[in-house]
Amino acid sequence: MKKISLGWGVVIGLLLFMAGCTANQTEDPVVVDPTLSPQLQQLQSQLAAFPLASPLSTAEKNSLLFMREEEKLARDLYRQFYQAWGITAFDHIQGSEQTHMDAVWLLLQRYQLNDPASAQPGVFANADLQALYNQLLQQGMQSAIEALRVGALVEEVDIRDLQEQAADVDNADILFIYDNLELGSRNHLRAFTMNLENRGVTYQPQILTPAEYTAIINSPKENGGF
Ligand code: MN
Ligand code: MN
Repeated sequence: MKKISLGWGVVIGLLLFMAGCTANQTEDPVVVDPTLSPQLQQLQSQLAAFPLASPLSTAEKNSLLFMREEEKLARDLYRQFYQAWGITAFDHIQGSEQTHMDAVWLLLQRYQLNDPASAQPGVFANADLQALYNQLLQQGMQSAIEALRVGALVEEVDIRDLQEQAADVDNADILFIYDNLELGSRNHLRAFTMNLENRGVTYQPQILTPAEYTAIINSPKENGGF
């Protein structure tokens, strides 16, 4: 093979470097979609600021598909409970769960994954979430207090799942969304347990340790999440 001079080596190196930069720019499919709500457009541009660092691991992919439906489980339950019991916390929080679903949907778009979430309320692709939904719906339809207990339990489950799954995630954009979902869940847990307290019921944590639970309940509502 003919020896390449130092000068040509530098030129070729520079060209390869520039080609690499261009390729990186065109690889990133994230643009702000003007058909989305202003809130989602803002979130989409926040996500676009993260580099598409590494391809998804199997754990990351499975986690995104699961979290999309876990947020749907919360939304669908709270909508049913609001209709049944008229407690405004369920209405507020179902709106927040819709935002959480949308946030995970943005990640699905970003990584070109198919959305597992059915448009139909109470229908889930994940069999475990379907079984959990059926059981919790039945429980929450028994009384307003049972519905609030289910709400608190769902938030506990959500916090634990987010923590466990975040341990297997290294993509910063996913961790950014998960941090916000967890912040939301802490606020929702505070809201549901306060609603129970107002009805004379002290909630006992079922998933979180007493120390974790107390730390959340005894700290004020957090701002800054979406
Ligand atoms: Mn949520
Ligand atoms: Mn929640």
